Amino acid sequence: MRPVYLDNNATTRADPEVVAAMLPFFTDQFGNASSSHAFGSEVAGAVRQARKSLQALLGAAFDHEIVFTSGGTESDNAAILSALDAQEGRNEIVTTAVEHPAILSLVEYLRDKRGVAVHLIGVDAAGRLDLEAYRRALGPRTAIASVMWANNETGTLFPVSELAKLAHEAGALFHTDAVQAVGKIAIDLKSADIDLLSLSGHKLHGPKGIGALYVRKGTPFVPLLRGGPQERRRRGGTENVPAIVGLGKAAELAGRHLADEQGRVRSLRDRLEQDIIQSVGHCAVLGDPDHRLPNTSNIAFQHLEGEPIVMRLNQAGIAASLGSACASGSMEPSHVLRAMNVPADLLRGAVRFSLSRDTSTEDIERVLQVLPDIVARLRETSPDSLQHHPPQSADPLRSTELTQ
Ligand code: PLP
Repeated sequence: MRPVYLDNNATTRADPEVVAAMLPFFTDQFGNASSSHAFGSEVAGAVRQARKSLQALLGAAFDHEIVFTSGGTESDNAAILSALDAQEGRNEIVTTAVEHPAILSLVEYLRDKRGVAVHLIGVDAAGRLDLEAYRRALGPRTAIASVMWANNETGTLFPVSELAKLAHEAGALFHTDAVQAVGKIAIDLKSADIDLLSLSGHKLHGPKGIGALYVRKGTPFVPLLRGGPQERRRRGGTENVPAIVGLGKAAELAGRHLADEQGRVRSLRDRLEQDIIQSVGHCAVLGDPDHRLPNTSNIAFQHLEGEPIVMRLNQAGIAASLGSACASGSMEPSHVLRAMNVPADLLRGAVRFSLSRDTSTEDIERVLQVLPDIVARLRETSPDSLQHHPPQSADPLRSTELTQ
């Protein structure tokens, strides 16, 4: 039986069209994009085309606003460090408690080793940002406010345009980690006043190890990687041409499929959630019900651990994940769910299902066939199971209370 892959927020399968577009750039068109001979110029043309495809997907005003990097982590690091280096007298960062470790571990380092003041803004039970606290934290010393467009664990979307406006009122730059948003929802940077945006190829059916940082024209910028004059002196190092071409193709395909796939994926995700709530019960959907990525579902099963659920799904040929891919392997509840104050009886029972344009109706049906049985068996054997906590009603447990 074909395995079911529902861990697309961790990574996606490269589209075969992406792979086909990349292949000639390993062999026939192997030139260095900076060379002045024919080998170089044909490759430079392909890099230019990839930049234009990303510009189109993001609705950016100029193709030179796109800087190719090695991925989301590098883009995030480059954005934050640049904002600190490029603005004299501004040495504070405003960000959130639910960012990806690509931001959080960097700002912790900057706080501990470089004396940078870091304001970590909290969220409510549905994962929504505390806007008042965000507003209060911004000030004349803020170098940059960095808020993710979409959370990787719950799919919660943040109001980045509004947040960017507030950051600008304080004279600060605004960055968004849009690694989980690009390719899944429409983005139009012409209508959002965002200075810097990070994205990553492998989250949108492109290759791993390639990404981009959007740097709005006129934004002060200091490169992270100093070296040759590539990327208009904003990122040194010979361009990874096959990967850049792959990312460009992935952006083109994402743009082409977005309108149709968004609705299809959302309805598969909603069906998965509704059926699980009905057939399994005693579970809560985590995240903002009104502002969420269409592909992400984070479901917490009361009084159970997520780990054995994910393991048994894996044995049944279904790949889902425990919270964030980066936190898996540790038994600690995720920092995102802790920041949301998810109640103790649900905190360790969260399982993330993340869909993509590769996901079929049959995939969702397979999960719905096996999951109720897995949960029922675990509830029978769990010492903390519902036998000791009889349900008050047949309604899905607090799913509304948690998600409102
Ligand atoms: N930011 C977010 C929100 C992510 O989900 C990830 C990857 O999981 C990253 C950044 C890191 O991206 P990359 O794997 O390309 O370094």
